[in-house]
Amino acid sequence: MGWDHDPAIIYFDRDGVLNEMELGTYVNSPEDVKATPKAGEALRLAMGITPFVFVVSNQAGAHTHFSAQTLEQIDDELWRQIGLQPLASVYCPHAKDSGCVCRKPGTRMAEVCRDITEIVWRKPTVEFVVGDNLGRREGSDSAFAAAIGAHFAWVHAETDPARALFDVLRPFMVSASQGS
Ligand SMILES: [Mg+2]
Ligand SMILES: [Zn+2]
Repeated sequence: MGWDHDPAIIYFDRDGVLNEMELGTYVNSPEDVKATPKAGEALRLAMGITPFVFVVSNQAGAHTHFSAQTLEQIDDELWRQIGLQPLASVYCPHAKDSGCVCRKPGTRMAEVCRDITEIVWRKPTVEFVVGDNLGRREGSDSAFAAAIGAHFAWVHAETDPARALFDVLRPFMVSASQGS
């Protein structure tokens, strides 16, 4: 199986996908960080396909509970545990009711990632969002995916992030025997 397309962009939600967290709570400090069991496998899969792997995460807690610097320390601790680091992390630090354009399902964070990508690559052909917040919930990852025209990989109790990403990537992969 191989990748036979222009580079993709893969956006990972963070909480509940790469680190353990229940919806509606916050990771407030590096001491709270615990990588999910398949976070490394998921990032390795993504980074094997494209250099354009990002974290996009609503972190309204950065508004009230912790600082931007703490957010960086949480990131550092997560990448230390996983042993891999995506290209960049993009966060919305604004309150839920701020009406900002970046909080998912707003599309501003994707635009930031696309701007980074276009420094080295003209235009990716296909985009994927890996997230655990499905449907019409506040901050929905699936609504974010729909808003930016990306395919959505749903992480839930029965499907870890590596499995979810693999399943959504599979139709885009070709086996060597299929030729060009
Ligand atoms: Mg989440
Ligand atoms: Zn925002």
